[in-house]
Amino acid sequence: MNGAARGPLGLVLLGATGSIGASTLDVVARHADRYALQALTAHTSADPLLELCRRHRPRRAVLSGCAEDKALRARFAEAGCELLFGAGALEEVAAAPGCDAVMAAIVGAAGLPATLAAARAGKRLLLANKEALVMAGPLFMRAVREAGATLLPIDSEHNAVFQCLPQHGGAATLRGVRRILLTASGGPFRATPLEQLHDVTPQQACAHPNWVMGRKISVDSATMMNKGLEVIEARWLFGLPAEAIEVVIHPQSIVHSLVEYVDGSVIAQLSNPDMRVPIAHALGFPDRIESGARALDLGAVGQLTFERPDLARFPCLQLAYSAILAGGTAPAVLNAANEVAVESFLAGRLRFTAIGQVIEESLARVAGGSAEAIEGVLDADARARRAAAQCISRLLGQAA
Ligand code: NDP
Ligand code: MG
Repeated sequence: MNGAARGPLGLVLLGATGSIGASTLDVVARHADRYALQALTAHTSADPLLELCRRHRPRRAVLSGCAEDKALRARFAEAGCELLFGAGALEEVAAAPGCDAVMAAIVGAAGLPATLAAARAGKRLLLANKEALVMAGPLFMRAVREAGATLLPIDSEHNAVFQCLPQHGGAATLRGVRRILLTASGGPFRATPLEQLHDVTPQQACAHPNWVMGRKISVDSATMMNKGLEVIEARWLFGLPAEAIEVVIHPQSIVHSLVEYVDGSVIAQLSNPDMRVPIAHALGFPDRIESGARALDLGAVGQLTFERPDLARFPCLQLAYSAILAGGTAPAVLNAANEVAVESFLAGRLRFTAIGQVIEESLARVAGGSAEAIEGVLDADARARRAAAQCISRLLGQAA
């Protein structure tokens, strides 16, 4: 399926105008013989998407958040590209026959339908959109199994774990594994005095010390909800219980995660913090291909340090563990409440320290249910969004 010897891999890139989208196109452009771009998608960024289509020449493009527009369609046609409109088109391109592999890089719950459609169509699925798996873990993994899809993690920690796990018959196994350790940088506020967190701005929260990412995941990194989502992601990807998934703070972001075996051996994956490394791993798998990332110079890095996370500073991490234990739709509620709270924080309304409060209250207020069917998951998502919005209104009313 992959490799120039068997013809180029038909690739669909969901979320092409984002940060993961840019890194993916950078890697793909280095290997023009290996990949044939079938479709690039964006939500509303029409001009940036058109520019990408002119440069990378996909067959089709999707603007999921825009209504039909003939003039726009004509501009894309001039770039040799058929333009589709609306969210349904995301699922269409992700499941299309000419598509072998899908990079799922839409941010948030909005990515679930198309990511799930790719899994159900048995595609090779490169998963960056962790929120989709967090929301719908059981049904997502069932779809992957039943359709025979290949799931390759893009999140740097999960990609690292995947690389450190024993491989058997082309798949990662848990043979001899005691637990996994997910590393976390601790974000921009790892050492900020607790009393100052109250007043941090979106700009400060988005200034990650090691990674350049989209705004939502940057805020998630600052609250460490990103690591919480990643613990849930790991739980489903690798089939491990929460007790076997530990988080360790590693401010240099060089060790991307580790696997501990029953004999006491610990295997880690290291690289410079550059998302092109896991992207190239998953694009090339099982081959290794050039990513464009700088070679790691350990002498220049000097020190690699580790510490335990401070749960008083990062309550969101604890909330994620609680959601795994609660099971069912609790992770979907956690994710939806977090999306609403982060959006409100980015809009300059909600305080940084209230993000965890909104999530905790939403988890307490929204009744649990089964996450085995998509309807139950979407219903929990909608109820959590309402609960979170009400909680935010109350908090803002109190503050006024
Ligand atoms: P960005 O915000 O940079 O990009 C998001 C992409 O999704 C854009 O193409 C955007 O289109 C599109 N999009 C936004 N909203 C919708 C919607 N409602 N429907 C369809 N498409 C939409 O995000 P990132 O690239 O940072 O992150 C993408 C995913 O990858 C996230 O799930 C994140 O957690 C994960 N990830 C990211 C990492 C990183 O380094 N950035 C690392 C690990 C995981 P438009 O431009 O039109 O808004
Ligand atoms: Mg990550």
